[in-house]
Amino acid sequence: MSKPAYQRVLLKLSGEALMGDDPFGINRATIERMVADVAEVAKLGVQVAVVIGGGNIFRGVAPGAQGMDRATADYMGMLATVMNALALADAMRHVGITARVMSAIGIEQVVEPYVRPKALQYLEEGKVVVFAAGTGNPFFTTDTAAALRGAEISAEIVLKATKVDGVYSADPKKDPHATRYENISFDEAIAKHLQVMDATAFALCRDQKLPIKVFSIVKPGALTRVIMGEDEGTLVHV
Ligand code: UDP
Repeated sequence: MSKPAYQRVLLKLSGEALMGDDPFGINRATIERMVADVAEVAKLGVQVAVVIGGGNIFRGVAPGAQGMDRATADYMGMLATVMNALALADAMRHVGITARVMSAIGIEQVVEPYVRPKALQYLEEGKVVVFAAGTGNPFFTTDTAAALRGAEISAEIVLKATKVDGVYSADPKKDPHATRYENISFDEAIAKHLQVMDATAFALCRDQKLPIKVFSIVKPGALTRVIMGEDEGTLVHV
């Protein structure tokens, strides 16, 4: 059997990916399916760190938060990611995967704080590390947290799970001629104004020469195919 293409990856899951078809919150069947995908790659011996979003519970810039102080709203968004991280770690426990949640903001009665050497130790022990509370700073996103933590733990790649199966030349929902890029360079993505991650996250990955793979979280088996280095999604490279 062929070997995984990566030894250590940073998987970015958006909060919205946990909703399934629900309008908000966590959909049980969806989270179970997602965790089964993570378990499959963890069992291949791949070290997996996850950055989870919070958009399914709270979005700092959402209409509901309008009129609120931006930083306060963003702290609420970060707390939402802690809830998702707890749900994710618990769902992992159900399938026999040991996960550790580490938070970028102090909330020690609930989860342990993010300490880089500890995170590396957990990964080496084969535990899945779930990074919660984004970067710990308002005005950032969990995409940026994914780029940051990915660089910090020397992940070989940031895997950005989305609802579409890659980066397209145009919006595939609007343009029937839109084609998927198998791979594209950072510079080409900028020149073509293709939205891969938010600008801060994208710049950090480019500067650190950290490739990004955009792939579908809804397509069965996609994560494993990405890990095995098969043609799946879009690779954004230096
Ligand atoms: N957030 C923040 N700083 C961070 C990460 C997240 O302030 O480093 C807040 C921000 O309000 C954001 C919310 O948390 O809207 C949820 O994160 P994000 O939108 O990235 O989640 P996703 O879209 O992936 O579900």
